[in-house]
Amino acid sequence: MLYTCNSCGASMVYDPEKKSLVCPQCGSVSSKMSEAGASMKMECPNCGAALEGAERRLVYQCPYCSSWMSVDANLAAEDAPVRITPFTFGRKKARENILEAFDHIPFLPGRFLKDQEGNDIDALYAPFWLYTMEGTGVYEYTGEKQHSHHHGRTTITDHEVYEINRTVQYRFDEVTVDAMDRLDDETIDAALPYDRSLAKPMDPIYLAGTESYLPDRGKDEEEYVGRARSWALDSVDAKETELTKGYMGLKKKKRERTLEEVPDETKIVLLPVYRYEYKGFGTHRIYMNGTTGRMSGNAPCDKRKVILHYLFEAACTVVSAAALVGILGVLL
Ligand SMILES: [Zn+2]
Ligand SMILES: [Zn+2]
Repeated sequence: MLYTCNSCGASMVYDPEKKSLVCPQCGSVSSKMSEAGASMKMECPNCGAALEGAERRLVYQCPYCSSWMSVDANLAAEDAPVRITPFTFGRKKARENILEAFDHIPFLPGRFLKDQEGNDIDALYAPFWLYTMEGTGVYEYTGEKQHSHHHGRTTITDHEVYEINRTVQYRFDEVTVDAMDRLDDETIDAALPYDRSLAKPMDPIYLAGTESYLPDRGKDEEEYVGRARSWALDSVDAKETELTKGYMGLKKKKRERTLEEVPDETKIVLLPVYRYEYKGFGTHRIYMNGTTGRMSGNAPCDKRKVILHYLFEAACTVVSAAALVGILGVLL
């Protein structure tokens, strides 16, 4: 489907602050998609151009007519997202956030975040698998407990040895694993943690104007499931000491943990990230969570401005020295 403006026909984009589609041309606001189109054919329903490179995309901007459209075939795919955490603020606010965070840097280059509307900031929905992991832990230990009795003035302490057998059922909901191989660690960190209270059922309306993709590989890929499993195992192991609280002199006899994916419950969620890249004085990248505004990255420093600054200071010094010489000249 095309995200077309009913008033002027331009392509609309989703505005997180108005929570609607907004036309960048005429400012019209629409809470609904204006036209259901047929992009199953992988051609632009507006101008007929072939959608090149749209294979894994959920939305696409036609390079010829600039129309945004959902790629319906991918939205209906088996591994399509069922949930999305929409951006809660727009690019303009993202730009203000960055400028505020780097306010203390005195030598930002003039071209840094030049676009007042923040259109030079990339918005991306990163796909994450949500795994449910279930399993059992069987633990056997021997441990001791101390008992003290009082007999008149004497205290007798005896040690008793216990067999400790524990069977624990484990369940972890929504273990997040990034599902796009080419995402860098900074983007993944910016997208997380997944806050399920902010998630909404998937609706293509949120995607207009934002890059978004299907996962690169299937959910049963051992690399992905393996990461969910090792995260769950780490969480289980971190709590193991609680099983034997109050015992001393522990000896471990058995420790078996199994954790497996509940395949029917695995799903994809899209999480929002803003990214800004500045080339000049090296390459600088800034990453921002699209709901909390949390930021990482570094800002460029304009060396020419630094040099100008020091030249100016040096010039001032020379001027005052000259003034001093002048005064001394009069005195002499
Ligand atoms: Zn319009
Ligand atoms: Zn087109």
